[in-house]
Amino acid sequence: MKVEPYALALESPLTTAHDTITERRGFLVTVEHAGVTGIGEAAPLPDWTEDYETCRDALADASEASGRAGALSLLADAPAARHAVSLAYRDADARAQGVPLYRHFAGDDAVDAIPVNATVGDASPAATAAAVREAVDAGFDCVKVKVGVRRLEVDVERLRAVREAAPDVTLRVDANEAWERSTARRALEALADLDVALVEQPLAASDLAGHAALRGRGVDVALDESVAAYGLDAALDADAADAVVLKPMALGGPDRTVDAGRRARAAGVSPIVTTTFDAVHARTAAVHAAAALAPLSACGLATADALAEDLAPDPAPVERGRIAVPQGKGNGVPTPLGE
Ligand SMILES: [Mg+2]
Repeated sequence: MKVEPYALALESPLTTAHDTITERRGFLVTVEHAGVTGIGEAAPLPDWTEDYETCRDALADASEASGRAGALSLLADAPAARHAVSLAYRDADARAQGVPLYRHFAGDDAVDAIPVNATVGDASPAATAAAVREAVDAGFDCVKVKVGVRRLEVDVERLRAVREAAPDVTLRVDANEAWERSTARRALEALADLDVALVEQPLAASDLAGHAALRGRGVDVALDESVAAYGLDAALDADAADAVVLKPMALGGPDRTVDAGRRARAAGVSPIVTTTFDAVHARTAAVHAAAALAPLSACGLATADALAEDLAPDPAPVERGRIAVPQGKGNGVPTPLGE
């Protein structure tokens, strides 16, 4: 197993709960397996995965282990590192089988494309509406608007402006844990009036009961931070969500994402696959994980633009609000040498 660090400049700074980052740092993992080469990626992001140093040390330990099972067994507490090793081996498995990665997971049914949403950040009502209109003009029929930075009344004003500018778009909002229960109840009334389809993580990640109580008010409730912090089973056991956001880097690999998506769906909960602003290998693997779970509603996979540079040409670019699923062998990312 070979482990190589990478650093890629972000198009604009990304603010997390921990700090503000200007580059995305991670690791490429290469394995020789079943007579072929497989490549995986770890893109650690504190809040969602272990930190960079923990990931680096975990990969160093795993590279000393003998074989796949030995390596994976060391990575239970390092989901980004596990993502890289798992993806590298699955990429090799699929290449050896001669099938695209999603068909390695899901069998014979071919999937052409995955619908994806655009994401619009916090801005004034006019700027928010203009950004949504731009996304709709670019072919997106689902847009997610970040809320919760401003007072609820201002967010409602923003969404009203969006509705006037884009009457037909499927609208989602992501509050990233911003609201108290009473604010969330008022928010859902307003969101239902504006035909918002889904609200993501309105309450604190720990408040599963609060999320459960918000369901059935005309707006679907999705959990994201709760799933990363407490796991899918806690969310399902609490009946806390209509949909769950599944981030392969936070879950520990595309294999775990496919498993989680199947378990969610079996419980009547819709999976939504997203990235954590990863480089091309992990983003493409997330597309394959989504394809293995298809059909899905719009996924948060249109994140390549967050990076100012990348590790290889993108085999899965967004076109008119959809990503065509790569149909080559394995993950389908061309190597820099042009394999
Ligand atoms: Mg979210």
